[in-house]
Amino acid sequence: MPATAPRGVGHLRGDEPFPAAARRALADAQLRRNLGHATTTIRAKSGAVIGELPDWEQLRAAGSAIKADVLARLPELLEQLEAAVTAAGGTVHWAADAVAANQIVTDLVAATGSDRVIKVKSMATQEIGLNEALAAAGITAVETDLAELIVQLGEDRPSHILVPAIHRNRAEIREIFLRAMPGVDPALTDEPAALAAAARRYLRQTFLTTPVAVSGANFAVAETGTLAVVESEGNGRMCLTLPETLITVMGIEKVVPTWRDLEVFLQLLPRASTGERMNPYTSMWTGVTPGDGPQAFHLVLLDNGRSAVLADEVGRQALHCIRCSACLNVCPVYQRTGGHAYGSVYPGPIGAVLSPQLTGVEDNASLPYASSLCGACYDACPVKINIPELLVHLRAEHVAAQRRPTAESVAMAAAAYAMDHPALYAAAQRAARLTRLAGRRGRGLPPPLSGWTIGRDLPEPPARSFRDWWARR
Ligand code: SF4
Repeated sequence: MPATAPRGVGHLRGDEPFPAAARRALADAQLRRNLGHATTTIRAKSGAVIGELPDWEQLRAAGSAIKADVLARLPELLEQLEAAVTAAGGTVHWAADAVAANQIVTDLVAATGSDRVIKVKSMATQEIGLNEALAAAGITAVETDLAELIVQLGEDRPSHILVPAIHRNRAEIREIFLRAMPGVDPALTDEPAALAAAARRYLRQTFLTTPVAVSGANFAVAETGTLAVVESEGNGRMCLTLPETLITVMGIEKVVPTWRDLEVFLQLLPRASTGERMNPYTSMWTGVTPGDGPQAFHLVLLDNGRSAVLADEVGRQALHCIRCSACLNVCPVYQRTGGHAYGSVYPGPIGAVLSPQLTGVEDNASLPYASSLCGACYDACPVKINIPELLVHLRAEHVAAQRRPTAESVAMAAAAYAMDHPALYAAAQRAARLTRLAGRRGRGLPPPLSGWTIGRDLPEPPARSFRDWWARR
């Protein structure tokens, strides 16, 4: 069985189980207001532009089919990608896990002599804890996506795939900028335009003075070795074009076979994520071009548990994800708890099925239960990932992995035995009626079965059983 993501590095495991973290998040009224407002707005925008496309369902089916094909022949496509990137002047590195990927990137940056890198927003580098690894080597990483910058300056954690600072309102952002942004005007207001201008001034200076950039990638086209990053601010394009050296860290599942396949995802992604008809900044590059853009390009292909996900025929559909975040915005659980409660860098419904598979289900055992199984995520997903099916699959895996019998399994075994022995069953019914007479109704079951009755009323045993009624006839 391929290895899962190693412990002690990166951000795939939380410090506490989901129910405990969720309980604390639910007590934060400001957080719930911010989340409710943001997810409702994005959802309405996205729904409107999706409704304009008569072939949306066909596009979803095509996206799903392309991803299934990619996973079925992943080794072949990755080798094709490596050959094309190398032919175009880039260098490809293979990283089995977060430790290897962090080491590769740190060594590459150190070799340039720079002690600072600029970063395009990237889930993969957050997953492996790259900023911390670089800091340990004396290298400062500056996030350039506005929301990521807010999270970094606030010494916070991202709480949404697409809108990492969704839990912050503008007054909080002003406070963070005044506290942590170098050279900020003390008279800064909380007007969105003023906040954006302050970030722009700070970032422009950083772009012009930093020789190395680190990015993620949304897609890589195997036939030509072309990498693609989609973003909506233009800061990503600055990172991808201004520095001398560009290092891209990409999960191995992001490869697509051809440009025709990319066409499908570039229609699905903006409508499902930000509710736009077309993505504002789509940057694509192939290797290096003399005299134009970065003159050294490195592509780090990251596994970190993905081969283990691929080995599970049901679970592997989680690797279809194009990180649009539509499932987060429709999820009644995410909308109330926000992203931090999930512990992993991947929050919401997709996080609940992807993180436990990358780490092994025992390291994120509470996440498959962080759902009401309402199915809204499945309906919203532009590549038709059946998240409810995956949640149930992982719950079953978790139960099967538990060697100790649970209170529930003991109770079920006892019930099965009693039902198989008529005399014992009749005695159990009499005992249940005695409990009723003793007035225990509504007080729940005693430990260890009390957990079952925390959220349910214990049914009242009937005054007369069917057996009694039958016997008296
Ligand atoms: S699972 Fe589907 S809806 Fe959720 S982020 Fe991934 S692609 Fe988007």
